[in-house]
Amino acid sequence: MRVGVDIGGMSIKIGLVDDSKKIVAKKVIPTQSDVLPAEGVVANIADAIITLLEENNLAVEQCESIGVACPGTVDGRTGVVLYSNNIRWEDVPMLDILREKLPVPMFLANDADAAALAEVIAGAAKDKENAVLLTLGTGVGGGVIINGKIFTGPLRGGCELGHMVIRHGGKPCTCGRRGCFEVYASATALMELARETAVAHPESLMNTMADGDVCKIDGRIVFDAEKAGDKAAKLVVEQYEEDLSVGIANVINMFRPEVIILGGGVSAQEKYLTDALQEKVNGMCYGGFICEVAPIVTSELKNDAGIIGAAYLS
Ligand SMILES: [Zn+2]
Repeated sequence: MRVGVDIGGMSIKIGLVDDSKKIVAKKVIPTQSDVLPAEGVVANIADAIITLLEENNLAVEQCESIGVACPGTVDGRTGVVLYSNNIRWEDVPMLDILREKLPVPMFLANDADAAALAEVIAGAAKDKENAVLLTLGTGVGGGVIINGKIFTGPLRGGCELGHMVIRHGGKPCTCGRRGCFEVYASATALMELARETAVAHPESLMNTMADGDVCKIDGRIVFDAEKAGDKAAKLVVEQYEEDLSVGIANVINMFRPEVIILGGGVSAQEKYLTDALQEKVNGMCYGGFICEVAPIVTSELKNDAGIIGAAYLS
């Protein structure tokens, strides 16, 4: 049995994962990084792991490994979370603190990397060894799997796919540059564009669906309004898919993965989104159909990907 830990801004999910890569037991605790020092959060994780093992009649020694998936920049070799904007951590020696209570092999990875690994070993890319996962959430996270292993490059901060520029001189990004992929392709970007468009088009169905409160417009409302034939929503979806396609085509040109997997809230649109993207991306990739273009699919493991990927880190 292995343990996978998936740290999020609001909650931390901890799961027992068996040899068939299925979660057999799960525990969710609040992150509380706004009120606790990092050491306190990690101590809570250790306690929750111990409780979860006990509840399932397992001794710590019966646990093969513990893996942690954390948002932000991490150093897997030293087990240190270097910087995580979401949970406001800097230089947290995550694995050293955990090891004091749990003497088992331990691993640490970025959450998008862990999720990508999970999709390759047990999800949407199960029969593949080379895949790229893009998570469309607050930002755009990227996980690259090459020959069945997470690829981050030898130096810190590699494979930040959300920060490739797709519009030179475009909108400012939190990283300090302008025109980054995530400024246009994140779920946040979709909602911002939708809200601006809804204000400019008071007749839009998006306003009706949000009860006249633009703040209530989310990704689902945009797509629902577009499917119902709303012109303003169509403008939003068209623009969003165009920007997302540019980034996906760039990723394909760089890595030529066997599959592109989309995760995050927007991926709930499944084939409705991926079919439209595929058509655009096919026309943007280098070499056209002379070179193969990866199919674009949505995540299979969804919210469980982080736990399963973390449990199978090595
Ligand atoms: Zn950026």
